[in-house]
Amino acid sequence: MEKVILISIDGMRPDGFLNCGNPFAQEMMKIASYTLNGSTVFPSVTLPCHTSLFHSVTPQRHGITTNLYIPFARPINGLFEQIANHGGVSAMYYGWEPLRDVSRPESLKFSAYINAYTEESSDTSLTDMALYRIEKSKPDFVFLYMVETDEKGGHDNGWMTPAYLERISMALDNVKRVYEACGDEYTIIVTADHGGHDRAHGTDLPEDMTIPMFYIGKRFEPGRQLEGISILDIAPTIADIMSVTPAREWEGRSLAK
Ligand SMILES: [Zn+2]
Repeated sequence: MEKVILISIDGMRPDGFLNCGNPFAQEMMKIASYTLNGSTVFPSVTLPCHTSLFHSVTPQRHGITTNLYIPFARPINGLFEQIANHGGVSAMYYGWEPLRDVSRPESLKFSAYINAYTEESSDTSLTDMALYRIEKSKPDFVFLYMVETDEKGGHDNGWMTPAYLERISMALDNVKRVYEACGDEYTIIVTADHGGHDRAHGTDLPEDMTIPMFYIGKRFEPGRQLEGISILDIAPTIADIMSVTPAREWEGRSLAK
């Protein structure tokens, strides 16, 4: 089973990525197949968007339209469940507690949560924990979720402010560490769940709905720009790379060659 790391950087706008001043942003555009014009789903809110990411259907289908989880009226297996059904080992590291509901019980072998407001540099600590587990256990799939860009950047200071851009740069430092430690063994996918404007998000404005996505690994041509892709394509792409069957209901398509 080919191995994948998915990194979600909450609220990272494409222009925030481009203007954060971290030199690794330029490097990512050279080593990845990528887009700076990807689409998320409406409402552009963290739990609805991540539920769509992992289940490859829109909020209209899965029914989660706020940050309050409710069981699906018509259940769909998500990426974690499909990987577990194929005998794969998954790990998840996350800085915002409601994200626990993107997988169902028994589909994770490793999981850790740190509250971003009670620990400074929670994103860095989560990255440390993910890298420790990768070195020790080599999970087949690792999901690393960083929230400081959104909470301490966008909401506390405003999207595209210097403080927000600094949080993106800090997140990219962590992406760089993951790439340098794991880039030979893992395909690495980096995305955002949504953008933002002023000090909020959730609307259908382009500032909220447009996300960057990066696919780094042997299945992806370096430096190639991808067009017309959506957050719904991430789960089918990861399943394809890992030789995991997608659930019948999934609506996205694989971008892997
Ligand atoms: Zn937010």
